Amino acid sequence: MNVMKTKMGWIEVVCGSMFSGKTEELIRRLRRAQIAKLKVQVFKPTIDSRYSADHIASHNSQKLLAKAIRSAQEILNLVEKDTQVVGVDEAQFFNQDLVTVCQTLADRGIRVIVAGLDQDYRGVPFEPIPQLLAVAEYITKNNAICVVCGNPASRSQRIVAEGDRVVVGAQEAYEARCRLCFDAKLHEKIKQKEEKHAKSKTTHRQPEVRA
Ligand SMILES: [Zn+2]
Repeated sequence: MNVMKTKMGWIEVVCGSMFSGKTEELIRRLRRAQIAKLKVQVFKPTIDSRYSADHIASHNSQKLLAKAIRSAQEILNLVEKDTQVVGVDEAQFFNQDLVTVCQTLADRGIRVIVAGLDQDYRGVPFEPIPQLLAVAEYITKNNAICVVCGNPASRSQRIVAEGDRVVVGAQEAYEARCRLCFDAKLHEKIKQKEEKHAKSKTTHRQPEVRA
C-alpha cells in the first residue's frame, strides 16, 4: 500500500562561514533543478548589492538570476503557482519571518533551498539561520580554510574596526578562521590600537607646537 503523499516539499539549508562556498553550493543545486526543467525562482535581500542587482553570485563568479526583495514576506506574493524550487541567498539578512515563509512554501510542496551565514563576526549564531536549521529536512554546513593555519574554518573573522553586525559587500573586511585562530574581540583591539595611534600622533605634535 502506498501511503506516501505526492508533491511533498522540504527545506534545505546550506550554512557556514564566509568563503565556505555557500552561494556556490546553492547555485549548483538550483542549476541541477533547472537542467531537470523544474521551475525555479531565486530571491535575495536588497541589502546585498555586491556583484549584480538581479543575480546571486558566488566568489568564483558563477551567476544565477535572482529577484532582490526587502522582506521575506514578499516571497509569498512573488512565488508563482507552478514554481517547484525556491532558492534564497544571504538569508541572514532577513528577519524571523523567513522561517514561516519557508515552512509555508515547503508545506505547499515546494523544495526550498536557503543559504546563509550561521554565525556573525563575533561567532554568535546569526538568526534566522539557527531557527531554519531546526525545521529543515536537510542541512549542509560548509567550512572554509583558515587563512592563518590551514585548519577547517567555521568562523568569519572581521579584520577591520567596524562594530556593525554586518559590513555589507566588504569581502576584504573578513577572513576565514578556525576555532583556534578566531578572535571574537579582534575588531575592538584594532579600534583601540587605531585610537591609541591617533592619540600618540596628537601628543607627539604638541611639543613641536610649543617649541
Ligand atoms: Zn586556524
